[in-house]
Amino acid sequence: MIFATSNPHKVEEARAILAPLGIELQSLAEVGCELPEPEEDGATFEENARLKARYYARHLGALCLAEDSGLEVDALGGAPGVHSARYAGVQGSRAERDQANNERLLRELSGVPAERRGARFVCTLAVADASGSILAEARGHYSGVIAEAPRGTNGFGYDPLLFLPDRGCTSAELSPEEKHARSHRGAALRQLAAELRRLAG
Ligand code: IMP
Repeated sequence: MIFATSNPHKVEEARAILAPLGIELQSLAEVGCELPEPEEDGATFEENARLKARYYARHLGALCLAEDSGLEVDALGGAPGVHSARYAGVQGSRAERDQANNERLLRELSGVPAERRGARFVCTLAVADASGSILAEARGHYSGVIAEAPRGTNGFGYDPLLFLPDRGCTSAELSPEEKHARSHRGAALRQLAAELRRLAG
């Protein structure tokens, strides 16, 4: 199955989670895909995952998995939500955008006490076939509290800011295996693998 994302971190994580379950993924680069990215103008994570899966499956004529994910912060009414990747703009490299996003989030939450800093990552997945039909969908969550300052160098995006009270560390301080065992992406991918097995009979 082709994993239709331009985010190399997501490809790495999805491969590590799905390989033990017997599902192998090809990246867009590996299939030589040079299509422009579709506009992610859905109002929900689900809409964006579906539109990306359909777009790539139709154009590539193959089964495609797409995902949309982001961070919902309670004190911000669920923001940045579907705008997580471009919260502080679209300029710069992926690493520069991640850092600018984290800085904006900390500014927005300045003065907000720990008990109101609850947040969760959300991951939605959709698989479409070449006709554009959605064959399977899944959703996962990963909850924590937004830290006062970034900590840790593993993972990507907002991982250094998602503090996990039961572990006393941030998501970026977990090993990849520890993150996948509890993350939104891990939960959604395991659910999707079970759904695909069920469909295959
Ligand atoms: P998408 O590529 O439009 O789905 O954007 C997802 C954005 O949400 C990423 O750029 C990250 O900022 C954030 N995000 C999603 N999953 C994670 C994660 O596992 N760790 C940290 N940030 C994440």
